Amino acid sequence: MRAIRRGTQGAAVAVIRGILIDLGLLANQTADAQANEDSQSYDETVEQAVRLFQQDRGLSVDGIVGDETWRALDSARWRLGQRTLRHVRSAPMHGDDVHQLQERLLEMGYDVGRTDGIYGVRTARAVAQFQREVGLGSDGECGPATTAALHRLGRKVVGGRPQLLRETEACRAAGPALFGKRIVIDPGHGGPDPGVIVQDGPERRTEDAIVFDIAHRLEGRLTAAGMRVHLTRGPSTETYLANAERAAFANDLGADLFVSIHLDGHSNPAARGVATYHYGSATSGATSTVGERLAALFQREIVVRAGLDDCRTHAKSWDLLRMTWMPAVRVDLGYLTSPSDRALLITPDFRDRLVEAMMAAIQRLYFPIESDVATGSFDVTRLRALLPATVAAAP
Ligand SMILES: [Zn+2]
Repeated sequence: MRAIRRGTQGAAVAVIRGILIDLGLLANQTADAQANEDSQSYDETVEQAVRLFQQDRGLSVDGIVGDETWRALDSARWRLGQRTLRHVRSAPMHGDDVHQLQERLLEMGYDVGRTDGIYGVRTARAVAQFQREVGLGSDGECGPATTAALHRLGRKVVGGRPQLLRETEACRAAGPALFGKRIVIDPGHGGPDPGVIVQDGPERRTEDAIVFDIAHRLEGRLTAAGMRVHLTRGPSTETYLANAERAAFANDLGADLFVSIHLDGHSNPAARGVATYHYGSATSGATSTVGERLAALFQREIVVRAGLDDCRTHAKSWDLLRMTWMPAVRVDLGYLTSPSDRALLITPDFRDRLVEAMMAAIQRLYFPIESDVATGSFDVTRLRALLPATVAAAP
């Protein structure tokens, strides 16, 4: 193009003035005849605004709109979300909105190549991958739904695995009702692997039997609340189930949540209390935000409602937590080797209290943060009232 400079008149000048006004670099003028005439002329105020723009963009500051400055002005018109972005091979779309999109994708760990503000094939591929991860149609075009998902997730999660972003998005989109949600409950050990064993007078207490009973009670209560519940094993499973197999079971079912139940054991009988684990990796910094929140809710509800000592929540990259595709926690409901924890764990009343604490935690996970309730205050018998009317009315 012919360079536009001081003294130039014409429609192109009007376009440049318009962009500079939108960017706040040039004052808008009243629409009288004189102003209309002025809007086509490249005067000193326009030149001054162009210089500011060039300085801001790291261009050569000469006050002249040549090819490079024109491209920059044209790009500066667009904010992310103002138009649908797509890959056009013959004439690639470019703009500040593309640059914003690339920055955001890069921040979230997607490979966009250079953040050059041009919607090339690599950007389209990264968008398609993001769309798959958050459960949108993966057409590689950045329209309103994709922009909205980027805005929701972009700032909160940095450096996480895409899969973890999807968890957050899926949890938010799932709504508050437990009805219809699918949960896998995993009673630890079983079959040839009894877990922690304690000889308690004449009784032989085993972790696998106690956690199965608790899991079974939880299954009943959550089913009554309308959830679809699956156990990874039965009361007398004969084969050894590796943690990877338990994770695969939940993945195959497309479960919304995974809860693994264990007891702890230690050679020191003074060791006691409850601890909850969620996925997290110290090396990559990746963490499951939903898993972390669920673990925190489990821990708080159990400490308050069941009165076990607080051994806190911990990030782990165990197979069980790493290989599950949905938010997952493992909770160790006290030490079987502690005389005080054990005295509680063998009573049905205490097991029911643990179950109610876990139910309250699961329900609170799906409440929007702003309508969350204080720990220990949610009445789990109210869960039935949250069922859709047609289901609640059934005999
Ligand atoms: Zn165990």
